[in-house]
Amino acid sequence: MTNIINKRKIPLREQPSGSELSLKVIEVDGSFEGPHCYIQASVHGAEHQGNAVIYKLLEYLETNPIIGKITILPMANPLALDTKVGTYTFGRFNANTGDNWNRLYFDFTKSSTEISDFAKIHIDEDDKVIGKEYKKLLKKLILNKKAEHTAYGPKYNGLLNLTLQELATDSDYVLDLHTGPIATRYLYVPEYLEKKSDDLYFPHRLIIPNEFGGAMDEATFMPWVNLQAELKKLGRDYEIPFESYTVELGSEEVISLREAEEDLLHILNYLHHRGMIKEAPAAVNTSTHVKCKLSDYKTYYAPRGALYDYQVSPGQHFKKGDVLAIGINFENLFRNEPVKFEVKALADGVLINHYPSSSVQSGAELIQVMENVYV
Ligand SMILES: [Zn+2]
Repeated sequence: MTNIINKRKIPLREQPSGSELSLKVIEVDGSFEGPHCYIQASVHGAEHQGNAVIYKLLEYLETNPIIGKITILPMANPLALDTKVGTYTFGRFNANTGDNWNRLYFDFTKSSTEISDFAKIHIDEDDKVIGKEYKKLLKKLILNKKAEHTAYGPKYNGLLNLTLQELATDSDYVLDLHTGPIATRYLYVPEYLEKKSDDLYFPHRLIIPNEFGGAMDEATFMPWVNLQAELKKLGRDYEIPFESYTVELGSEEVISLREAEEDLLHILNYLHHRGMIKEAPAAVNTSTHVKCKLSDYKTYYAPRGALYDYQVSPGQHFKKGDVLAIGINFENLFRNEPVKFEVKALADGVLINHYPSSSVQSGAELIQVMENVYV
């Protein structure tokens, strides 16, 4: 028994030169019916590690049969990945419009009469039928949205995102692989999945509200949250079968195939818990982990324009009063003040990521930390 691996390309955008950008879609079908997992990487074009993990996953899938289906999109935003400024990848924002690529998805089910009508029609069906029928409705709604979006031409902001949403529509689990700037490994987990996220073990987890803010995880789980709310109005308790996570795999601009092996173990472990892989992969080390609410995820903004020497590494715990970074500013010399100054912790916490360069303007996102962490 082996998996059937199909490859196809979806044309995405034509460049002024006439050359074409396309999405690379890899569909892996196991020999038995089962859940569908959708995995994409690099919607932020400088965040490469997910592609290394996908490479390792494909190697694994060549010889290890799965149950169900996995749809895989490496390099899910080729335009962002190709936008270089000097040696750096300008991958987070659309260079033409300034928009953050991971805030351009659509919540096409909010206050939709189709969803409330669906809830009324299917109120007495069992969970399985509801899930199956609802995916058909989502597919229809997203195609309508796409038609509306492209009525006057293929407006690129949003078109990429709608295409990715469409590919993920009939999945049960979505893993959107990102990285931070200089960062540790962490997950964004919607409140309703706090317990289930134990199976996708990563050492730091940010628990976010079940709300829409434009990101892929939210765009894929909100239709289910909205359905649950409509069914609740009619007196039916419905457990959401769908899961979606943003997976942050360390720092941008680099890949590590060695670290990808460990990252893959976490994902295989999750797929095993969801019944898609029979044999349990090697155990991941789950001895240290912390969570915090999004409201306790704090950003230290650079107090001064300066060159900063970061004193705490991503993943490191620190105490109130510890020095997080040392800055040097030569303007101070002319003010008869010390050139060197310190940024101290306002509370105990864990450092999650810091600015990717030492040269920082005042007001920039210098350091991000978790406070009031719990296990
Ligand atoms: Zn990202």
